[in-house]
Amino acid sequence: MGTVVDSTNKEATGSLPINKKVKVVFVLGGPGSGKGTQCANIVEHFGYTHLSAGDLLRAEIKSGSENGTMIQNMIKEGKIVPSEVTIALLQRAIQENGNDKFLIDGFPRNEENRAAFERVTGIQPDFVLFFDCPEEEMEKRLLSRNQGREDDNIETIRKRFKVYMESSLPVIEYYKSKEKVQKIDAAKPVNEVFNAVKAVFTPSGGK
Ligand code: UDP
Ligand code: MG
Repeated sequence: MGTVVDSTNKEATGSLPINKKVKVVFVLGGPGSGKGTQCANIVEHFGYTHLSAGDLLRAEIKSGSENGTMIQNMIKEGKIVPSEVTIALLQRAIQENGNDKFLIDGFPRNEENRAAFERVTGIQPDFVLFFDCPEEEMEKRLLSRNQGREDDNIETIRKRFKVYMESSLPVIEYYKSKEKVQKIDAAKPVNEVFNAVKAVFTPSGGK
């Protein structure tokens, strides 16, 4: 087996173990909380590479992979794609990229995602950037963003909110208990949210 990042990990079994030292920030928050928008700003100002789990899954559908139909059906239902599929995509993206700083956006989405990622890659996040936003605001944004996404309809949006509350919030609670969460008020305008984000990434202003 190849070298893994965290030596506490004794059972890394991924087909492509990550063999370089990387810094990972998980970017979490409900659907429409502004993760993708703010990640683009962070990339520009702080030199991270942005890996959106949702974008990687959508690219996998487009590529015509054998998992494509399964992934497409899960996304349409707002369900969480099996960990091994998402983790393999993230692992490959980290491995193929020359950078050593990554924003992982929209993952882990449940406790099983979280535990499997740590186990397989040996990576623990430096911290978790959590975009906190009321559901009414997120719903409004999703319904008006027109990105042509099959899951931005009211029926799927309701399902995504339910999965977020039931499965994703516990992941944020887990990292809170480890004092790794940097919470951002995400209901404000984009530039105000980015000011708060900047403070987190600027050495004197947080982590
Ligand atoms: N998804 C998943 N696992 C992930 C990330 C995304 O299964 O780690 C699926 C899930 O069905 C989700 C959809 O992809 O509802 C869209 O995720 P994305 O992060 O793009 O959008 P968000 O819900 O954050 O707006
Ligand atoms: Mg997104």
